[in-house]
Amino acid sequence: MKNIPIGQHLIEKGLITEEQLQQVLAKQKESKGKMFGDVILEMKLVTENQFSEVLAERLNIPFVDLDKAVLIPDVVKRIPEDTARKYNCIALNKVGRRLTVATSEPSNFYAMEDLRVVTGCSINFSMATKGAVNRAIGKMYSAGQTDSIVEEATKQKEEEKSLEDLANEASNDRIDNAPIVKLASTIVADSFRKEATDIHIEPFRDFTKIRIRVNGDLIELMTLSSALHVALVTRFKILSGMNIAEKRIPQDGRMSQVVDGTNLDLRVSNLPMVYGEKVVIRILATGDMSVRKITDLGMTEYNYQRFAACLKVPQGVVLVTGPTGSGKSTTLYAALGEIAKPNLNVITVEDPVEKKVEGINQCQINEKAGMTFDAALRSILRQDPDIIMVGEMRDAETAEIAIRAAITGHLVLSTIHTNDAASTVTRLVDMGVQAYMVATSLIGIVAQRLTKVLCPDCKKKRMSRPDEDELMGIDGPIEVYEPVGCPHCNNTGYRGRTAIHEILLSTPEMAQLITRGAKADEIQELASQQGCKLLRDNVSLLVQQGKTSMDELIRVTYAV
Ligand SMILES: [Zn+2]
Repeated sequence: MKNIPIGQHLIEKGLITEEQLQQVLAKQKESKGKMFGDVILEMKLVTENQFSEVLAERLNIPFVDLDKAVLIPDVVKRIPEDTARKYNCIALNKVGRRLTVATSEPSNFYAMEDLRVVTGCSINFSMATKGAVNRAIGKMYSAGQTDSIVEEATKQKEEEKSLEDLANEASNDRIDNAPIVKLASTIVADSFRKEATDIHIEPFRDFTKIRIRVNGDLIELMTLSSALHVALVTRFKILSGMNIAEKRIPQDGRMSQVVDGTNLDLRVSNLPMVYGEKVVIRILATGDMSVRKITDLGMTEYNYQRFAACLKVPQGVVLVTGPTGSGKSTTLYAALGEIAKPNLNVITVEDPVEKKVEGINQCQINEKAGMTFDAALRSILRQDPDIIMVGEMRDAETAEIAIRAAITGHLVLSTIHTNDAASTVTRLVDMGVQAYMVATSLIGIVAQRLTKVLCPDCKKKRMSRPDEDELMGIDGPIEVYEPVGCPHCNNTGYRGRTAIHEILLSTPEMAQLITRGAKADEIQELASQQGCKLLRDNVSLLVQQGKTSMDELIRVTYAV
C-alpha cells in the first residue's frame, strides 16, 4: 500500500481523474522542485483536509481535524513552542510515556527523533493539515502570553527611549525586542486568531481601549495604560509608512505581518481625537490567499444558477450591492475567477487592490496622482478589454462611463452602495444616469449581506413561536436554534458568517419598467414575480436549517 503513488490513491478515492493527475504532474515538472501536495492544493483539485486524509491512510496513521479537536494545555506544552513551530507539530495526548503528536509532516523521521529527545517520551504521529497545525500552535502557545507582554511594555515604558530614537539608531535587534514592538505584533496576532476583521485602538483620558470586530460586532480585546498609547500608535505609524511627526491630520497606510504562517495584509488609518490619535486596522483578505469559488460563498443553489446565468452574458452590467463589509468584493473576485479565461482581456480598476489575481490586469486608483476612477476607466477602454471590473461606482461620472462601456460591448462588473437590488436601479437614475441606459445595459443585480452562523458546539434547540413562524412565512412550530456561547466561539454563540443574496435579473418587462422611470417598489414587485428571492427569505431558510438564529432574521428583516 505504501508504494502506490499518492496520485494513484486520489484517483482510486474518486477525488481526481487520471487526466487531472497528468495535469498536476506536468505542472509539478514545470515548477522544478515543488512537492506534489503543494501543486495539487494550489490547483484546488482537492481540499487540504481531503489530501491529508488520503495521505494519512497511505501512511497508515490516524488523521485528526485539529480545528475540531480539544487540546489540553499541559500536554501541548510538553513540546516547546520553537520545536513545535520548527516541525509544524502539536502534542495531542499523553498516555504514560507515549506522546501522540499531530503533524503535517509525519514522514519526517528526524523530527520524530528530535521530539523523542526533547520530551523524553516515545512519539506516535497523527496526520493534520499544515494550516490547522499552524492555527493550533498560534492559539495554544499564545494564550496567557499577552498579559506578560502588556506588563513588560508598561514597566519599561518610562526608561525606554522612544521608538523614533531606536529607529534612528538603526539597531534592528533592539527594535524587535522592544516590549512595545512585541505588544503591537501580539495585538495583530491575537485579533487574527480570534477571526477579527478590524482592530480599533481608542484613546480615552485615563486608558486606551482595544476592541476588535468579530462576526460584525465589536468586542473588547484589552485595556491598556494610557502611558502606552503614543508608543503603540507610533509603532503602527512606522510600520504602515505614515509620517510619525504628523499628529494633527488623518493619515492612512498599509503594512503586512505573518501570523501562524498566513501573510496578513493590513490597512491602517489614523484619526486625531480629543485624547490622542485613534488607529483602526483593517485585516484584509491575505495577499496570498487564493480566490474563493462562487459555490464556496454560501450562495444557495437557486441563486447560484441565477448568478451564473448573469455571468454568461457577454455584454452588459452586473452589479453587486450591499453595505460596507458585506463581502461584495469577495463575490466579485469569485465571479472574475470563474469567467477569466486566457483568451479574454480582463482589467480591473480598484481602490484598493484587495487581492492580486493571476491572469488579470489590476489597476490601482491614486487620486493624488490624478489616477481617478473615471480617468482610469477612460484609459482602460482604450486597452481593448473584454471584461472590466470597476471596484465601486461611487460617482455619476464613473457610473456613466461604466454603463457606456457595457452598452458598447463589454461585460462590466461593479459594486454600488445600496440596501437592496430594486433600489439600486433608482439609485443609478438618481445619480444622473439616463433610465434607458440603465435599462439597456443591466444584466442583473446581486444584493448581499453577511449573516452570523451559530456555533455548532453550543447552539440550543427550541420550538418556534407563532409570531416567528409568521416572520419565516411557514406553518409551524418547527425546531429553531439559539446562540449560547462556549470556548469554541469566544462565548459569542456564533462562529463565522455566511453570505446571503437577493438576485434581480433584467428581462424585457423589467427593462420597460426601468425605462419608464418606475419606483423601487414596482421594480421589487416585478422582480419577485419573476423569481427573485428576498434577502430575508434566504435568512429564513438558514433559520429553518438551524444554521442561524431568529435574531439574525429579525436583524436582516428590520435593519435595512
Ligand atoms: Zn460555542
